[in-house]
Amino acid sequence: MGELKLSSLNKAFGAVHVLHDIDLSVKDGEFVVFVGPSGCGKSTLLRIIAGLEDVTSGRIEIGGRDVGQLSPAERKIAMVFQSYALYPHMSVRKNLAFGLENLKFKRSEIDARIAEAARMLAIEPYLDRKPRQLSGGQRQRVAIGRAIVREPDIFLFDEPLSNLDAALRVQTRAEITRLHQQIKTTMIYVTHDQVEAMTMADKIVILRAGRVEQVGSPLELFDYPRNLFVAGFLGSPR
Ligand code: ADP
Ligand code: MG
Repeated sequence: MGELKLSSLNKAFGAVHVLHDIDLSVKDGEFVVFVGPSGCGKSTLLRIIAGLEDVTSGRIEIGGRDVGQLSPAERKIAMVFQSYALYPHMSVRKNLAFGLENLKFKRSEIDARIAEAARMLAIEPYLDRKPRQLSGGQRQRVAIGRAIVREPDIFLFDEPLSNLDAALRVQTRAEITRLHQQIKTTMIYVTHDQVEAMTMADKIVILRAGRVEQVGSPLELFDYPRNLFVAGFLGSPR
């Protein structure tokens, strides 16, 4: 699929300017974490990348192609929300199938993809249950499964662990990391949690009030924070 590239991206909601001149590239296969305080524009940026939100100005390219007018499915991007975004009245199997059915995939292809995702996430035993019959961690795996079955080029995660308790967050974080090592697909992961960013990322993008404050590997940012905001946010010793 190639590199995701954002150039001079701006976003305003009416008079409120929430993203300012964002320039950013994400390489094929990279695990990138967007981190910053609540309200800094992380979700808006993710929704723009997904194609769920228009930009006010700027350009979004994937593999050199302008995708600004394309839908999420056409961009081959799948987004993982918090686990409560599952359809409560549908079985796990149906939750996984639903998006593909809407896209008119063949039944045999849908079943094959569900079987593969269920195996990968160890949710085979729960396929015929409803979300309310699952634990928080199992639900979160189903939410991830719903993205996997689409076989996207890019996964987007918006604070996917925020509903889970501390122990489950650590476990699910490790599962997402393992999934990335296994499928090596580009993942962009949004969090306000510095520890998640430091432990999961190949590359961290620090956002502050709608601007990119610094980009680098966890070690680079920790050792060479550009300013006090970055240092303070990551807990660097300076
Ligand atoms: P984060 O995910 O980092 O917490 P958001 O992207 O949700 O931040 O929000 C960034 C800013 O944009 C906030 O000030 C928020 O109030 C504003 N905002 C987000 N979505 C909308 C919208 N649909 N209409 C108006 N303002 C919005
Ligand atoms: Mg958000």
